[in-house]
Amino acid sequence: MAKRGHLFIISAPSGTGKSTILSAILKQDPTIRYSISCTTRPSRGSERDGINYYFISDDAFHKKIDSGEFAEWAEVHGHLYGTSAKFLDNSLHLGYDILLDIDVEGAKKLYAKYPEAILVFIAPPSMEELRRRLSERNTDSAEAIEQRTRSAEAEMAEAKQYHHVIVNDDLTRAISELKAIINTY
Ligand code: 5GP
Repeated sequence: MAKRGHLFIISAPSGTGKSTILSAILKQDPTIRYSISCTTRPSRGSERDGINYYFISDDAFHKKIDSGEFAEWAEVHGHLYGTSAKFLDNSLHLGYDILLDIDVEGAKKLYAKYPEAILVFIAPPSMEELRRRLSERNTDSAEAIEQRTRSAEAEMAEAKQYHHVIVNDDLTRAISELKAIINTY
């Protein structure tokens, strides 16, 4: 039987560069699987269904909650996000390492279910820099940027609960740091 895989739970306030870091890691190591979440949020810009997220309706999301399909789910920034339990369990059983990009609440719930998981927090260099990146990204309304900045402050307070914290002040270094963390397990 294959050795059980590792679960790397990555949380970061939005605008931290988390997606870029995760894409780089997944490109460099095709043996790592990414857990694609379901969300009721509409897709942004170049996001694709089945690649970045499974974009589903509120109704479909609630049906999945009722049938117990999610290992965890949470409401983030006014939308619902959930992780497939079947994907996690199958992949871990087959020996794949998994990267998950989930919020701090989801991370806590998942850690309670998978206490062997490794928690990694990616932090922005500062709150000013985060606000600047969110505005520059130009994919969210002013109201959404404000909401995301406010939740970032609350999320930052949770960083101390994580096993590893990476400050993304230099993208190349942040990618190497995450790679090094993954390689130690
Ligand atoms: P975004 O809308 O910017 O892609 O993601 C917003 C937040 O939702 C991020 O903090 C992201 O990590 C989180 N998120 C994405 N998928 C999931 C999920 O399946 N469960 C939970 N709890 N949070 C998620």
